[in-house]
Amino acid sequence: MKKSYKRMAAMTMAMILAGSLAACQSKPAETAAPETTAAETTTAAETEAEKAGAYTPGTYSATVTGMKEMTVTVTFTADAIESIELEHEETPGIGEPVCESMPDQIIEIQGLGIDAVAGATLSSQAILDGVADCVKQAGGDVEALKAVKPEVVAAEDEELTADVVVIGAGGAGMAAAVTASQEGKSVLVIEKTGNMGGNTALAGGALNAVDDGSETALARDDSVDFHYEQTFNGGDQQGDPELVRTLVENAWDGVEWLKELGMEFQPGVFTVTGGMYERAHKPVEPEGSGFFKTYKAYMEDHDGITMKYNTTAESFIVEDGVVVGVECTGETGNKVTAKANNGVVLATGGFGRNVEMREKYNAETKLWPTLDESIPSTNTPAITGDGMLMAEAIGADLIQMGNIQLLPLGDPKTGSLSGNIEHAVESRIFVNKEGKRFVNEGGRRDEMTLALFEQPDTTMYIIMDSDTYPTGEEVNNFNETISSLVEAGRAYKADTLEELAEQIGVPAENLVASVEEYNRHCQGGDLEGQEDEFGRVLFTDTDKVNNGINNGPFYAAERVPTVHHTMGGVKINTNTEVIDKEGNVIPGLFAAGEVTGGIHGTNRLGGNALTDTVVFGRIAGKSASDYTR
Ligand code: ADP
Repeated sequence: MKKSYKRMAAMTMAMILAGSLAACQSKPAETAAPETTAAETTTAAETEAEKAGAYTPGTYSATVTGMKEMTVTVTFTADAIESIELEHEETPGIGEPVCESMPDQIIEIQGLGIDAVAGATLSSQAILDGVADCVKQAGGDVEALKAVKPEVVAAEDEELTADVVVIGAGGAGMAAAVTASQEGKSVLVIEKTGNMGGNTALAGGALNAVDDGSETALARDDSVDFHYEQTFNGGDQQGDPELVRTLVENAWDGVEWLKELGMEFQPGVFTVTGGMYERAHKPVEPEGSGFFKTYKAYMEDHDGITMKYNTTAESFIVEDGVVVGVECTGETGNKVTAKANNGVVLATGGFGRNVEMREKYNAETKLWPTLDESIPSTNTPAITGDGMLMAEAIGADLIQMGNIQLLPLGDPKTGSLSGNIEHAVESRIFVNKEGKRFVNEGGRRDEMTLALFEQPDTTMYIIMDSDTYPTGEEVNNFNETISSLVEAGRAYKADTLEELAEQIGVPAENLVASVEEYNRHCQGGDLEGQEDEFGRVLFTDTDKVNNGINNGPFYAAERVPTVHHTMGGVKINTNTEVIDKEGNVIPGLFAAGEVTGGIHGTNRLGGNALTDTVVFGRIAGKSASDYTR
């Protein structure tokens, strides 16, 4: 469901600014909506009014792409932007708040010189582009409007104190903040962008946890030990065994904690890509938004957590070897000093959007052919390794920094995971531009992505049938319906595999042969004793919803490699205390989430990142609360 917001102009402001834009008026555009026709029946008086204004009055629409497709509809009077209406499906907690605030800002200043909101640049830019398009249609002067900027009032320097200071309002930071609050502490959260969420809000939403049997009534042969083994071996045994143990042993407790806070999960478990097993729990809310809805709900009911948005942590304040706070830059370049009575929690995420760091550390391991700017990322732009650099500056040990995870599932234009049509591993195969399978699609994320780098144009197509999308109105993991993706040209749909092959430009006979071969494995039987060419073992899920690609209409979506997660980072122990290069604890400093290293080894299992934020975020919140100096 698209959400719709309408914002109306404050007329006084519109009148003040109208004069300065008087020269911008021109004829109505052909694409103008029917309402504009009224403007064309001019009287002498109206013509005079239009001359004094900037626009040809009427309502105009433009379709733009933020995280997802968005329709921007703007109504102009002769001299003002009167209202802006958005129909959008931007991510709750990231793009959605911008959709609520930016139209008001544009109307308030009657201009387009507004900076994109950090952390939600795609959504912000889409709104600005959409309004600019409408301005153009209404004969306004886009460049003149871009020069109209909000008045910036320089904020004062300030010093803030709380028991626990948390840096970064993503999954780990907010789990730590809520935990510290539950421990009775006052908490100050420093966040670089205008929203909570970070990469966690963009995650597919799968959380691995071996439950107590309440979710897995079908008695899958799973155990905490098997989760440990798959995590440890899946990372080539480079993860710290004690941290891996901590992760898997506290995973279900983390889910129960979230449920107690009111978070809802869908029943059952599934295998997420690269998850290796059916043990992922899926929140009811799309992507990672359920976590933040839950944390916000906690904050509505409890005082004591203060959010300091648009504030960038720059360096730690260290007194006598103890971390006591952090120096930050505020929204207008002012200095914000945050001091902690107890501990400081570092939760700034990874460095997926820092190309320089990607290249530097990839050069050490040479895991990937290249990680230059040609390789997109699923991450929000704020994820630039700040916390690692800050910690390194006070002697923290950065470990396994070259372990960088890519996914083979990026949108070819944005690198985002949105538009990904798969639901579970068992629902799909991957084919290259020759229509041929090339990898075990149930395998490790690094192996799948490395194999994709070897394919023509580094491009693949996900192929599925209609089992997952019987009516076309079902949504993918990103709350997008398959029909909307097909309509937007982001996915392909055809009644037969031959037609699908034609649409995506791969040889039909190859695609048909690939699917037939795959189906034989799904059905078992006639290939008994013969293993899949690529070693795939996950063919059908326990519920038997997916059992081969048999039933049209068939679907395809193009995907490319995208930087997803950086497994290296700040070294911690099981209490999340940060460790320096000599192996000593740095007193007062705790770290959790993607900013830490040494848990996931060379390759993080799909579904383990959200588990990491909850498990280690909670430990960090507790440890920082308990810390006294
Ligand atoms: P994790 O999954 O480890 O919780 P996320 O990516 O979800 O990581 O969240 C990290 C958060 O930290 C993001 O909201 C990001 O904007 C924020 N952040 C990154 N660098 C800084 C910084 N220098 N100061 C404050 N917040 C930061």
